[in-house]
Amino acid sequence: MKEFEAVIGLEVHVQLNTASKIFCACSAEFGAEPNSHVCPVCMGFPGTLPVLNKAAADKAVQAGLALGCNIQKFSIFDRKSYFYPDLPKAYQITQMFYPICLGGFLNIDTGNGERRINLTRIHMEEDAGKLIHGEGEAAGYSYVDFNRASVPLIEIVSEPELRSAEEAKLYLQKLRTVLRYVKVSDCNMEEGSLRCDANVSVRPIGETKLGTKVEIKNMNSFRSVQRAIEYEIARQSEALSEGGIVRQETRLWDNDRGITLPMRSKENAHDYRYFPDPDLFPLKLTDEKIERLRRTIPELPDSRKGRFMGEYGLSAQDADLLVSEKDYADYYETALKTHKSPKGIANWIMSELLRVVNDKNLGIFETGIPPESIAKLVALIESGAISGKQGKEVFAEAVKTGKTPDAIVREKGMSQLSDKGELYGIVESVIRENPNETERFKNGEEKLLGFFVGLVMKESRGKANPKMVNDILKETLK
Ligand code: ADP
Ligand code: MG
Ligand code: ZN
Repeated sequence: MKEFEAVIGLEVHVQLNTASKIFCACSAEFGAEPNSHVCPVCMGFPGTLPVLNKAAADKAVQAGLALGCNIQKFSIFDRKSYFYPDLPKAYQITQMFYPICLGGFLNIDTGNGERRINLTRIHMEEDAGKLIHGEGEAAGYSYVDFNRASVPLIEIVSEPELRSAEEAKLYLQKLRTVLRYVKVSDCNMEEGSLRCDANVSVRPIGETKLGTKVEIKNMNSFRSVQRAIEYEIARQSEALSEGGIVRQETRLWDNDRGITLPMRSKENAHDYRYFPDPDLFPLKLTDEKIERLRRTIPELPDSRKGRFMGEYGLSAQDADLLVSEKDYADYYETALKTHKSPKGIANWIMSELLRVVNDKNLGIFETGIPPESIAKLVALIESGAISGKQGKEVFAEAVKTGKTPDAIVREKGMSQLSDKGELYGIVESVIRENPNETERFKNGEEKLLGFFVGLVMKESRGKANPKMVNDILKETLK
């Protein structure tokens, strides 16, 4: 079989988190009673006029700045005509010919080093409504909810530069991270505030011309994007290696069956009869405005990761995790202000705190353990005041009660047993009670040390200072 290489370009729709819709004053909030956020404008009544929500344009610019795009000082809204029941005007307002952002890029960390994926453009558009197909008694009926109609979107189009399903997933995750840093969207795939269409083609390795592409829709998790692309690469490679062809078409991902199915043969741009929307002014941005928005962009994950590695000595993997959400990175750096132990605090956040965050589905600032408390806890352990094991107990109690580590340690009368005399006493009694193991240790079975350490820890009810126990045991058993 010939060897094929995959070529993938993603078109990602992101809902901007403005309070109101893009061309009317209706609320853009998710999850309200169907058709409660509607008005004549977003319902497409004749005679109404759209007015651009400036906050949506600001957020599109912020996204573009965070992604290294060239912000266009002049862009135009166009009508894209198609008939579908969730599109009340029978056209969608979008930007076809003069989008708000051109170019840009996103770095992904592939494991074989970093790759830069270029963007083609970002344009603004309005969302369509949502069709709900009835089930049970309502089977055979379809309902339409216009709450989503005219919610602001940006569409981020990548160049066809991704080479595997894994890279596509990394790209999406990175895109989500960056957009969450600039707070233009929560990018929740399950709720549909981030949606991805994947364009996939394959070509024989060494070929430079692009193959015929298929567009896949209907994936609603990172995992399903990856699976759909993997499936599609295999399907196309197989077709071509058997001498067949790939038809240019749109296919739907069936998540239950794990396959893509044909939906429609691909329409061409002229089917949409694009033309500038005469109801809207061109969108003009001044340099001052763009500069003002540029100043709102915080330090972004790539730079922050580099700094965490350089300044705090973290591994790439740890830095990656800590910068994956702006809140994690902010939390971490706030904790460091109380106690400067970059690795100690990173470890506690990654192992204990993020477990609570994930289990309880909370923000990192909402766990009941503020950054100062994690810092204080790590300081108590590092100074030897309490053991690591006691630290976990303090942590659990702090999650439960919201009390500070100091208060918990005081209330529970916790302290680490670091008294040499007392430790010698315990070690000696443990050795006395286990003559066989002692003999074996002396004959060279050094791995039995752990056995003795365990007994001493048990005897001290977890309070013994582990480092001292190790030293005293080694010395006494000699
Ligand atoms: P269309 O006009 O069909 O929407 P575009 O040229 O706008 O196509 O590209 C849409 C997306 O498809 C972009 O993300 C682009 O990178 C990607 N793409 C274009 N050609 C190919 C190809 N041959 N294989 C894979 N992806 C492609
Ligand atoms: Mg397209
Ligand atoms: Zn409205």
